[in-house]
Amino acid sequence: MSKQQPVLFSIGWNACINCGACVAICPQEAGFVSPFDTIAVDRPCDIACLLCEQICPVDTITHQPVPRPGGHNGVNGQ
Ligand code: SF4
Repeated sequence: MSKQQPVLFSIGWNACINCGACVAICPQEAGFVSPFDTIAVDRPCDIACLLCEQICPVDTITHQPVPRPGGHNGVNGQ
């Protein structure tokens, strides 16, 4: 499998210094940004290279896996 499981990023807004490094290194298409000029946190990243987490100087980017649509590990259904 070549594709990573999509992830959803979280950013500690109190720690972020708005350096812009995460956006600069992100290979996503233009526009994958938040209103605070960081990488987007409101939609999944399907590349999941995690370069943003590695480059963040204050280590304030984290992520959680997002179940693939139609996957057997989804959370819909009981
Ligand atoms: S790399 Fe880290 S400190 Fe810099 S803008 Fe992104 S989240 Fe904020």
